[in-house]
Amino acid sequence: MTAEKTTAEGMYEYLREKLSDTVPDFELRLKAGLAVEINRLKKEKNALILGHNYMEPALFYSIPDYVGDSLELSRRAAAADQDIIVFCGVKFMAETAKILNPTKKVLVPSPKAGCSLAESITAEDVRELKRRFPGVPVVTYINTYAEVKAESDICCTSGNAAAVVESLNSDKVIFIPDEYLAGNIARETGKQIIFPTRDPRHQFPEDLDYQMIGWPGRCEVHEKFTVEDIENVRKQFPDVVILAHPECSPAVVEASDFSGSTTAMIRYVEKTRAPRYLLLTECSMGDNVAANNPDKEMLRLCSVRCPHMNEITLEDTLLSLQKEQFEIQIDEEIRLRAYRAVERMLAIG
Ligand code: SF4
Repeated sequence: MTAEKTTAEGMYEYLREKLSDTVPDFELRLKAGLAVEINRLKKEKNALILGHNYMEPALFYSIPDYVGDSLELSRRAAAADQDIIVFCGVKFMAETAKILNPTKKVLVPSPKAGCSLAESITAEDVRELKRRFPGVPVVTYINTYAEVKAESDICCTSGNAAAVVESLNSDKVIFIPDEYLAGNIARETGKQIIFPTRDPRHQFPEDLDYQMIGWPGRCEVHEKFTVEDIENVRKQFPDVVILAHPECSPAVVEASDFSGSTTAMIRYVEKTRAPRYLLLTECSMGDNVAANNPDKEMLRLCSVRCPHMNEITLEDTLLSLQKEQFEIQIDEEIRLRAYRAVERMLAIG
């Protein structure tokens, strides 16, 4: 951090330079003061702050030691040697940090920061799938809680899901819980996918040809994008390059120009030169990418904000550090089983 960013005025100037097109000036002033206090306390308490790509711009550019996607931040959490890890992201991410680095105090600034995908499946649902499809390995998206990871053979993120599925060399895999990500990975890896109902009495015909078994969970943000949205944007801006997160439906991914994890999308924008870009993902990330690429035009879709990521504010992060509150706790037996699934994923990359 530069010397200037240790004072409220210096932080304000830094944020203004970066975000004057995105955040109103008075808000930047307010947030600069909070950010400086958080950074002071972070040092005093020997804490590490991790910030997901979906954090709001002023937070994203002021307090995290590292920013990134779930995979990158998991690696940072595993390597952390500070006493406290504050995870500016949602609960399942903070849980992953605790799974990987159990001796640290891991805090999430708001207990309300959930996730529609993580909440779509329980450990009992996974056990039921394993009873119905015995011997089939379970690949679990990182966007799940520890109890679900503990029932799994291996985890994946949107950045490595295809590599994880292919690493198993299995005729069939259970891929949970994101229905759309599963559909996109099935298409990418050339596999047939089925979605069993929650009713275990429902049987599939013996001769049905499938290699992946999915689950009907969805990200409440990415499911909102439609092919019609893409067609409308292309009519208005024929030269736009559209990037879709793989939690969007397979039809939306198909209609886009590129699909990848948040990090892959960031790299794509940095390395290409298009007249304008549209990111079909959480809208704060669009702001963050725009702020880092001032010479590139980004179309904004700011009605699509994740309500869970939105719970993480500078105010709550300060309170979390001051009171050391909303500490992640995981039963050790569950943590150890979840650790094996996460660690196996990290070994693949
Ligand atoms: S953007 Fe979607 S997947 Fe990510 S935390 Fe929000 S609801 Fe969950």
